Amino acid sequence: MQTVFGPVPSRRLGQSLGVDPVVPKTCNWNCVYCQLGRSTPLVAERREYVPAEDVIAEVAERLKHYAGKIDWVTFVGSGEPTLHARLGWMIREVKALTDIPVAVITNGSLLYLEEVREELTAADAVLPTLDAGTPELYRKINRPWPEPPFEVYVQGLIDFRAQYQGKYWLEVMLIRDLNDTPEALHALAEQIARIRPDKVHLTLPERPPAEPWVQPPTEEGVMRALAILGQVAEVVHPAQGTFDLSGYDDPQEAVIAVLARHPLRERELLTALARWDADTVQHTLTALQASGQVQVLERYGERFWSLASAKYAG
Ligand code: SF4
Repeated sequence: MQTVFGPVPSRRLGQSLGVDPVVPKTCNWNCVYCQLGRSTPLVAERREYVPAEDVIAEVAERLKHYAGKIDWVTFVGSGEPTLHARLGWMIREVKALTDIPVAVITNGSLLYLEEVREELTAADAVLPTLDAGTPELYRKINRPWPEPPFEVYVQGLIDFRAQYQGKYWLEVMLIRDLNDTPEALHALAEQIARIRPDKVHLTLPERPPAEPWVQPPTEEGVMRALAILGQVAEVVHPAQGTFDLSGYDDPQEAVIAVLARHPLRERELLTALARWDADTVQHTLTALQASGQVQVLERYGERFWSLASAKYAG
């Protein structure tokens, strides 16, 4: 499977060319809201999941194809990018190829390792997760590999702030009745004050979550979060826009590449495939379903397409 995907529309990063340096689904967390389904098994080893040289060759090719159409190159994807042992080398290579800024979307759990902090300093923006202000809620929401414990993970986020000059944006996924209560939000605010990010982005579950009971907060919950977390926090709604599949000749390959990183609403998928005629699209989706490579799920009252290998409960 190709490691570079998109560009995908992003509210924070404009048209973002995604670079996925691991294989589905390689993660040391098993977040209840994960849109890629459950992490089975959890993986905590840093290694070269895909050859770093191949990733960079693909990035170079895609940068030529999408010249002038990309705002950010973003390491993100079908798991946790900092698990790739040569992430720092790849960030520096991308920066040598282009002036387009480079972002890393990470769960932040490995920032307690000096080598990971050092590697990420080469990026222009780092967007780690912080969903919980207490160890209990951290275990409940993120269901992490036992190491690092909560305090070590948070200390990693604090230490990275001390050495990082780029944009440091924390991401909080708000979940009804878990981290949108006054107690949970006050605990979160305390940790955020210690970490001192430039911004806190509040996001809401809006694609199929790993666990079917995960619900977005009510309007009241969102307002409470904004009030308690203060001015540093803002709600980031999903970007409007189309997933750009113009870099693919084969529609099946295009569908697999995007769904491995992003389950899509049926209408989003059909819009992304609009450059092919209706018969080709129909044939492509039927063939992918018949061969067991993709699945269709009903969540939040909508039909979503994802890779069949993604494991959703319920
Ligand atoms: S949301 Fe991110 S950190 Fe959480 S399980 Fe999914 S890939 Fe891992």
